[in-house]
Amino acid sequence: MEIAVTPQSTEHARHQLLERRERLEAVIPQAPDPQALARLLEEVDAALGRIERGSFGVCDVCDGTVEPERLVSDPLLHTCLTCLSAAERRALEHDLDLAGHVQRTLLPPASLQIDGWEAAYRYQPAGMASGDYIDLVPLDSGELVFLIGDVSGKGVAASLLMSHLHATVRSLIAMQLPFGELMDRANRIFYDSVCGDQYATLLCGKAGRDGQVELSNAGHCPPIVLRGTSALTLPPTSVPVGLFANPPFPTTRLTLGVGDTLLLYTDGVTEAADASGREFGRERLVAAASRAERIPVARAVAGVVEDLERFRGNSPRTDDLTLFALRRNT
Ligand SMILES: [Zn+2]
Repeated sequence: MEIAVTPQSTEHARHQLLERRERLEAVIPQAPDPQALARLLEEVDAALGRIERGSFGVCDVCDGTVEPERLVSDPLLHTCLTCLSAAERRALEHDLDLAGHVQRTLLPPASLQIDGWEAAYRYQPAGMASGDYIDLVPLDSGELVFLIGDVSGKGVAASLLMSHLHATVRSLIAMQLPFGELMDRANRIFYDSVCGDQYATLLCGKAGRDGQVELSNAGHCPPIVLRGTSALTLPPTSVPVGLFANPPFPTTRLTLGVGDTLLLYTDGVTEAADASGREFGRERLVAAASRAERIPVARAVAGVVEDLERFRGNSPRTDDLTLFALRRNT
């Protein structure tokens, strides 16, 4: 998910820097290595100077733009990714590699069958680490909890935040809370840890007996129900998590018939663009998924991703991509 530098985010960075400056000044006189902290203080002052001069977020090597999502997590940055030194680049790649590794260990099995349901997903980070969130949690009751989301920002910061949200939701599910409370609690914990600075879209669903599905959609891309030749879009039921302390997270219920498929995705799917800038979009997604209606779900998901790759051709992949399908089999 993209982040932009706005006057508000620059003002926020200024506040943050002033507060950190005070803390540094307080600790320097007592520190065992005051020089190292004094150098950090100089960097903070330099960043404050860039804000004053209106050059905050401008790369001091090429005059290009420092990537906003990097700037949000570290306002001291003054070099764009392209202009990093070899050593800085190696350090960044190492961080990304570690973050990506942590993420891959969190992924659920690529497909599973449970009590009349068949589920499968594809997850493709654009870089080494991703802000996309996917999880499948089979319950002892025979029901299946499924989650898909997208954390604001990119790279290491987004992927760590995604891991945090993943751990939070997993713990809440293990506590066997009523479904309707899951999102409230997850939001509260996430909100307390990000202080309104960052947010995540998150869709949480539970598939139960006789095709019963409960959904709570916190600002995530609208799910699509494929039923024969028709495609029904289900709008979000609330705002993303992390924006407010206590927003309402209503639950919607629906019943899927045998053969119906619930399709969930991140914006990396619908916003994937071809060389001319045309987006893949909902219509192409529905068409691709409908073509794959009668084959096993795992192959259907793979088929949609292949269609998308063909559509994109040689144009570069800029966002993480996650596609999930849940079909009622009996
Ligand atoms: Zn640059």
